[in-house]
Amino acid sequence: MGKESAIKPLEPGFEQVFAQHPWAQMGAKLAQIGEAQVKKALSRAGQGSPADFMALVSPAAEPYLEEMAHLAQALTRKRFGKTVQMYLPLYLSNECHNSCLYCGFSKDNPVPRIRLDQKAVEQEIAVLKGMGVCQVLLVTGDFSAKRAVEYLGQALDWITPHFAQVSMEVQPLSQAEYQVLIKKGLHGVMVYQETYGPQYAKFHPHGSKADFFWRLGTADRLGRAGVHKIGLGALLGLDDWRLDSFYTALLVSHLEKHYWQSKLSISFPRLRPAKGGFQPEHPVSDRHLVQLILAYRIFNENLELSLSTRESPDFRDQVIPLGITSISAGSKTEPGGYANPNTQLEQFEIHDARSPQAMEKALAQKGLETLWKDWDPHFGKPQ
Ligand code: SF4
Repeated sequence: MGKESAIKPLEPGFEQVFAQHPWAQMGAKLAQIGEAQVKKALSRAGQGSPADFMALVSPAAEPYLEEMAHLAQALTRKRFGKTVQMYLPLYLSNECHNSCLYCGFSKDNPVPRIRLDQKAVEQEIAVLKGMGVCQVLLVTGDFSAKRAVEYLGQALDWITPHFAQVSMEVQPLSQAEYQVLIKKGLHGVMVYQETYGPQYAKFHPHGSKADFFWRLGTADRLGRAGVHKIGLGALLGLDDWRLDSFYTALLVSHLEKHYWQSKLSISFPRLRPAKGGFQPEHPVSDRHLVQLILAYRIFNENLELSLSTRESPDFRDQVIPLGITSISAGSKTEPGGYANPNTQLEQFEIHDARSPQAMEKALAQKGLETLWKDWDPHFGKPQ
């Protein structure tokens, strides 16, 4: 199986929506947003349009940050109660044939390459189970699609019996390939476009990831395949965070219209130091990241909002109560990192090194309950 051929899309894809929203034109629109549009967006709390989202991330919304924080928190409590889900990443491999400029797994970095075999995966599972983890996110670099699907299928066989939810953050696959993996118990797939702007080609010069539109169509393929959860986002720091996030919001609206059965999740990966020494050209400040998180919640009250260990303990403690509903803790970003830590193999350095239990305690001090499990694989079994 490879890129789509036999399967014809039944619905118009996001590519068409994207074509109607040129980057430069959206940038000009963003620059013109004033107070009236921000107030209108605030009045539609929880049920906004992509245009409302654009107003909420605009410079014109910056004086409204406190009002936005109250609103976002109230919407989150109404929809999710006082709960925050806990998951951990499980890195299976650092092999990659791409050379994304910002990533420690780039093929240009001279690090040993590893793919965990069954025994090594079982060692990781044992450590994670000992930590009380019930939800994992499998992570790999990009390798040849055929080998990847074979390996991921095997890995799901090894891993799914031990966890309530198993999701993936791996290379984009075809609809048929996703369907194979969903049958094996795959719950969710995270796929970030990184940037929707014209600089995409500069950051992704080689390999399959250089194909912007194959990546852009991934969420549609996932929706058609019927996956339970689709995770979206932009890599913060590559280009204008306001515009990149606007396109993610546009994609959210598209997916909700066409694949309403799938739950949507948004992540906020802010660039962290990695091998290769990449420096983000558009760093995102703490204040702007807060504005972005609040904007997503006010735009759409149903979204899962996820904040990883890329962020500092202090930042996470302040921001999680305002709208975040999913976190990781004690993460390792190298294959085999729980049983045999080796920072030389890390994809990036984490910032919050607290264990899941320490995090649970910190959340409890804020009046929040850690949700280790809210799904049983039995629910996903075909009838
Ligand atoms: S971001 Fe993904 S595709 Fe790019 S080099 Fe890293 S692992 Fe490979």
